[in-house]
Amino acid sequence: MNLPYGMLEGWGRFPRHETQLLDCPFPEDLAAATLSATSLIARGNGRSYGDAAVGDRVTLLCRGLGRMRAFDPQTGMLTVEAGTLLSDIIESFLPRGWFPPVVPGTKFVTVGGMIASDVHGKNHHRDGGFGDHLASFRLVRADGETVTCSREENPELFFASIGGMGLTGVIAEATFPMKRVETGWILQETTVAPDLKAAIAALDRSGDATYSVAWIDCLARGASLGRSLVYAGEHASRDEMKAMMPEAVLYPDLRQARLGMPVDLPGWALNSLSVKAFNLAYFRAGQRKAGAPHLVHWEPYFFPLDGIRDWNRLYGRRGFVQHQCVVPEDRAEAVLGEIIERFSRSGRGSFLAVLKKLGPASGMMSFPMPGYTLALDLPVTEGVRPLLDQIDRIVVEAGGRLYMAKDARQSRDVFEASNPRLNEFRELRRATGADGRFSSRLATRLGI
Ligand SMILES: Cc1cc2nc3c(=O)[nH]c(=O)nc-3n(C[C@H](O)[C@H](O)[C@H](O)COP(=O)(O)OP(=O)(O)OC[C@H]3O[C@@H](n4cnc5c(N)ncnc54)[C@H](O)[C@@H]3O)c2cc1C
Repeated sequence: MNLPYGMLEGWGRFPRHETQLLDCPFPEDLAAATLSATSLIARGNGRSYGDAAVGDRVTLLCRGLGRMRAFDPQTGMLTVEAGTLLSDIIESFLPRGWFPPVVPGTKFVTVGGMIASDVHGKNHHRDGGFGDHLASFRLVRADGETVTCSREENPELFFASIGGMGLTGVIAEATFPMKRVETGWILQETTVAPDLKAAIAALDRSGDATYSVAWIDCLARGASLGRSLVYAGEHASRDEMKAMMPEAVLYPDLRQARLGMPVDLPGWALNSLSVKAFNLAYFRAGQRKAGAPHLVHWEPYFFPLDGIRDWNRLYGRRGFVQHQCVVPEDRAEAVLGEIIERFSRSGRGSFLAVLKKLGPASGMMSFPMPGYTLALDLPVTEGVRPLLDQIDRIVVEAGGRLYMAKDARQSRDVFEASNPRLNEFRELRRATGADGRFSSRLATRLGI
């Protein structure tokens, strides 16, 4: 087939690759589109950071599969096509008192992307990942057959596709339950943790809270290493909202992004001084809000960065990488302390460094494991690679791993040493013919 060529990248804008583009907005055309090419991968909204959604040869664009198919108000069960955006789901359902069971840190992701990355939210320690809530999905396999996958039907494919990064087939549609909420407000309580030990203890203490997450000042050093603001949150009830903000509307609207990045910032704009100044100002502002619980609009609570359009241009044209690792619980304090120390010493701190507690995951290749995850952004500059390579080794030696949805650079050795079910996944790909059909730049780089 004669397909147009284009350059594609992930949210980090690194790396960029040429690929052929195949647009498929209709579910009835997915089987033929899948059979028409090899070395192809499905792409949702391109919010993975690296090369996961760039086809080795062909990229199948699934954003047009955006129809909502069915909703049962008795059970909250929703069926949507895989290209449906999370933002569309929230915009349609929150005013009616329903919210998705799991949301990542941006609402501009598709349901297909949420399944393929088995995304985690601020409630993973309590509720698991998006995959844990799925009732079923329809998958176009390598042979063009569309099959239903659930815990009862084709369970192997079900668990391999959750967190399987599009490498088992193309998800056409999915069914999952929405949950009831009484308002669109979050009752948030902020705790100031003076160091990493206190941050981990505060996340542990807030283990019963539905949502919890910590923001780390990753440039603080010495006795303040790992100092954090720990945010715990609950969906506010109608009574709580009425008592605290009687004038407010129950379900506030989606806010339009107030700011945008119209141009790429030059590389020098983001130096250790500007990052340090931001971290200090953010920490002080958080400190002032600590203590009494207060109500926060759902959008800045769950998706703080969506308020700035194209914020990925902040890092300039060379792009940036996000390093997100998870380290088992018993090693977390020592190992994460060492990692933060190395980042801090290198002067390559990040605007945003996030620490979260995770629980177990059900997908064969899912990222989460019981432990703590640390994520931070770094501009692509000289010296970043060797620093991150060293940190990867520390993570692997501690029994942890890196998140494929954020990855643009880990080595094959690191990947193989840290994913115990990789051979099982490779075997399933061989057995279903997926290895000869589906392949992304990430899969080739990591030898999946
Ligand atoms: C600001 C920001 C914050 C984030 N916060 C979090 C977070 O808190 N937690 C978290 O877990 N993740 C987080 N992410 C990562 C993001 O949730 C995942 O990368 C997600 O997969 C992106 O969805 P997408 O639709 O853009 O998918 P894409 O980036 O287009 O694709 C991601 C993967 O899904 C596969 N895929 C997409 N559609 C299909 C389909 N129809 N069938 C089969 N495979 C498919 C692709 O092949 C690829 O492997 C964040 C990303 C950003 C930019």
